[in-house]
Amino acid sequence: MTTPRTIALDGPAGVGKSTVGRLLADRHGYLFLDTGVLYRAVSLEAIRRGVAATDGAGLTTVARNLDILMLRAEPDSDRMYIVRLAGEDVTDGLRSPQVEAIVSQVSAHPDVRAALLERQREIARSSRSVLVGRDIGTTVLPNADFKVYLDASVEERARRRHRERLAKDPLFPYERVVEELKHRDKLDSGRAASPLRIPEDALVIDTNGKDVEAVLSEIEAEMGLQR
Ligand code: C5P
Repeated sequence: MTTPRTIALDGPAGVGKSTVGRLLADRHGYLFLDTGVLYRAVSLEAIRRGVAATDGAGLTTVARNLDILMLRAEPDSDRMYIVRLAGEDVTDGLRSPQVEAIVSQVSAHPDVRAALLERQREIARSSRSVLVGRDIGTTVLPNADFKVYLDASVEERARRRHRERLAKDPLFPYERVVEELKHRDKLDSGRAASPLRIPEDALVIDTNGKDVEAVLSEIEAEMGLQR
C-alpha cells in the first residue's frame, strides 16, 4: 500500500481520537485537524453573541463568518493546539461546560455543517493530513485514502474523561460523565445531517482496555507505516 495522503479518523466522544490523531500526525509528518474544534468554536461564538442553540439561521451566520486560527502548541505544552477566535486565545473556553452543553445541538443544524464543510476539505487538500471527527470518512472525505473508526464502551470512555475532569474539578461525579456521554452519543448518532456512523471501508478498532500506543501500533501496522 502506498502511504496515504488523507486519513479520516472518526468515533464517539471520549474515545481518544484527538490524542491518537495528533500523535499519528506528528510522528509521520501529517497536518492535524480536530474538526470538533470548529463546532465548539461556533458554539462559543454563538454564546458570546447571544445566538440560541435552536436558531439555525443565526448559527449558520456565525459559522460562515468564523474568524478562526488553529495553531500547533509548543511540544512541551499540555495543550494539543491553540485556537484563536478573532485573535483571542479561546483554547480553554472551547472545553467549558457551557460549550459542552450545546455543541451537539449546534452541530445538528444542516446549514451549520454545510458552512464548515468546505473549510475542512480545503485543509485536507492543502497538505497530507489527519482529520478527526464524527463524519470525516462518511461525508467530509468519503474518498480518504485511509479510514479508521475508534470505538469503546461508554463506561470506558467515561473513565478516561472522568480522570481528566477530576484534575479541574476533584468532586465531579463519574455518573455525570456517563450521562453526558450518553446524551452526546444519542444526539451525534441520531441527527439527520451526517450522523456518526462507521464508514463501510474503515478499519474499526475496539479500544477497550488498550492504551494509546497499542491503538497507534494497530493503525501503523495496517497502514504500513514505520516509526
Ligand atoms: O470531538 P469533540 O468532542 O470535540 O466534538 C464536539 C462535538 O462536535 C461532537 O459531540 C459533535 O456534536 C460535533 N462534531 C460533529 N462532527 C465532527 C466533529 C464534531 O458533529 N466532524
